[in-house]
Amino acid sequence: MLEEIRRLMELQTLDRTMRELEESLSTIAGRVNQLQEESQKYSKELELLTAQEQEFSAARRKLERELAEGEARLRNKRIRQNMVRNEKELQALNHEVDALKEEHQRLEAEMLALTEAAAPRATRLAELQELLSNSQSELVKGEKEIAAEVEELKGQLARHRREREKLAREVNPPLLQRYEMIFSRRQGVAVAVAKAGTCQGCMRLLPPQLFNEIQKHLQIHFCPNCQRILYFEG
Ligand SMILES: [Zn+2]
Repeated sequence: MLEEIRRLMELQTLDRTMRELEESLSTIAGRVNQLQEESQKYSKELELLTAQEQEFSAARRKLERELAEGEARLRNKRIRQNMVRNEKELQALNHEVDALKEEHQRLEAEMLALTEAAAPRATRLAELQELLSNSQSELVKGEKEIAAEVEELKGQLARHRREREKLAREVNPPLLQRYEMIFSRRQGVAVAVAKAGTCQGCMRLLPPQLFNEIQKHLQIHFCPNCQRILYFEG
């Protein structure tokens, strides 16, 4: 019986290692996904800001044109102000000049607002370009490293699996089945030590008679509370 328990414990060690290896594999896959998501996030923002930047440039060109046209008109009106002798015509010209000046101020204010909005965007754009290029090179590097890591882990897993199969063949099938069920239900601890009258799996006190029996190692005993396979370590 002691031999049987030892095999189960060996099996448990192997099973736990395999579980850890599998967890590492999925963590690694998660890391690549994370890097990919990060890259995508940056490139989306970059796309958006680039489009905004293009709109801004177009708007600025339009404003610059309008400002230049307004200035030219204003110059012409001023020349005419100096030439006109008719009072009524002069008054009309003065009105036109005022209106043009107002329009000019409005355009200038618009230009200022555009320029002010452009500054933080330009900063963020430069920042994003750097972030994206870093994140992409990290992704390439990560994928390379991870590919090697994944290969290594898969190799280890395969070796453990072979060893486990060999070991499992030596355990009697109903016990193996029971062990596997407890292992999956009890977070990877199917075999627990009975110590000082207590099951170390669930920390509950065992009936004294059962604890005595466990110490004899004549047959396999289970914890009445957590159903784990118990063994005594003297
Ligand atoms: Zn227990």
